[in-house]
Amino acid sequence: GIRFEKVVKRFGDNVVLRELDFTVRPGERVTLIGPSGSGKTTILRLLMTLEKLNEGVIWIGDNTLWHMDKGGKLVAANEKHLHEMRKQVGMVFQQFNLFPNMNVLRNLTEGPVRVLGVSKDEAVERARGLLDMVGLADKENAHPTRLSGGQQQRVAIARALAMQPKVLLLDEVTSALDPELVVGVQDLLRDIARESDLTMLCVTHEMHFARDISNRVLMFDQGQIVEEGPPDQIFGEPTEQRTRDFLQAVL
Ligand code: ATP
Repeated sequence: GIRFEKVVKRFGDNVVLRELDFTVRPGERVTLIGPSGSGKTTILRLLMTLEKLNEGVIWIGDNTLWHMDKGGKLVAANEKHLHEMRKQVGMVFQQFNLFPNMNVLRNLTEGPVRVLGVSKDEAVERARGLLDMVGLADKENAHPTRLSGGQQQRVAIARALAMQPKVLLLDEVTSALDPELVVGVQDLLRDIARESDLTMLCVTHEMHFARDISNRVLMFDQGQIVEEGPPDQIFGEPTEQRTRDFLQAVL
């Protein structure tokens, strides 16, 4: 699982996370909702070590990612820890971020071969299975730029799964897609979520997708969690006025 303990993140004077505490248990699927600019993407970037925190501790499984020592100094995980973490965590981004100079198959085999030390043959076999699952078995030789946005995002999802992660982070995965492609990608992710025991942490502006995919929803605002609960409760009978206002504005 994932645990944030009193995590503070600032960009200059802008305090984005204020002593944020939350836990995602193994196998749980949690969605973060909340207004634009409230720090949701920053949470995922901290987990991918694309950002540094200012205070607090982040745990992934039994490893700390960053923490403060007794003297108040920020200590990053050592390289071995980071390597372990990167093997456990997969991320799918808003903008796909496929390797542009590799064909589809190679996008899926590169990580397993280089990072996990899987044999080329095994990586290819697994990649083909995943491409079949996401409906792109006939595209293995295609260049990513020749694919539609929806197809690119399917490849990105397959690429993340090719690393056999324990934790999957999804950052606004359909917001760059043409409207008619959104549902297909969301349905794919919902099926993956239901059929796997992946731990998932998802950021989305699409409330029906949040409802579909998660077993817990965190309403996030101004660097803190305002309210949390199962999707039926958060969307059906939220207790906090802040949540009600937000949902009224977006639904
Ligand atoms: P959205 O829903 O619009 O994607 P969000 O909740 O994901 O928003 P973040 O992208 O995490 O919000 O941004 C939180 C705040 O941090 C914003 O005020 C943003 O301007 C600021 N911020 C994010 N990244 C940086 C950066 N690299 N440098 C400076 N400020 C940043």
